[in-house]
Amino acid sequence: MNTKDLKVLISEEEIQAKIGELAAKLNEIYKDEEVYAICVLKGAVMFAVDLVKKLNMPVKMEFIRLSSYGSATTTSGKVNAVDIALPDLNGKNVMIIEDIVDTGLTAKFLIDFINLNFHTKSTVFCSLLDKKMTRKTDVSPDYYCFDIDDKFVVGYGLDYDGHYRNLPYIAYADHII
Ligand code: 5GP
Repeated sequence: MNTKDLKVLISEEEIQAKIGELAAKLNEIYKDEEVYAICVLKGAVMFAVDLVKKLNMPVKMEFIRLSSYGSATTTSGKVNAVDIALPDLNGKNVMIIEDIVDTGLTAKFLIDFINLNFHTKSTVFCSLLDKKMTRKTDVSPDYYCFDIDDKFVVGYGLDYDGHYRNLPYIAYADHII
């Protein structure tokens, strides 16, 4: 895949505007309550950073690393917890920040992991993108910014074989779909 083949699906301006709307909603919900924002590396890094900068409540950021894709453009169907070290989340407000919910396997894995290990005060799942058409579980994000079709997308944290995470917009290429 070449950068010149990429087509912009969601512009930088659209992304930032939607994140602003989501942050306003979350600020209203939590008010002054502390939140543990858990960024799912590597894909959610851009979204998490931009979102937490717009949150007004006390925020503690945590980073975990999961993988399910390798270098392919379809999920392996198996979620690997590369690094899932978390502090004690009992009694805490937990906000999971993910790049995209596709099959939902990663989201389900994470929600089950949190529920099995902690009694949180609350847990919400925020995703930048929601690919509803390809869902294989009954899990859906509590909050998401954009609904997208069954396209393999890159940019704004999302990669193809490690590339394109640095693009400030979400893009796709016809020939790898
Ligand atoms: P799921 O477990 O919901 O099938 O997929 C979750 C993970 O797969 C995401 O966190 C992301 O890393 C990867 N993924 C799913 N769809 C896409 C896509 O269209 N583009 C890229 N780059 N990664 C995706």
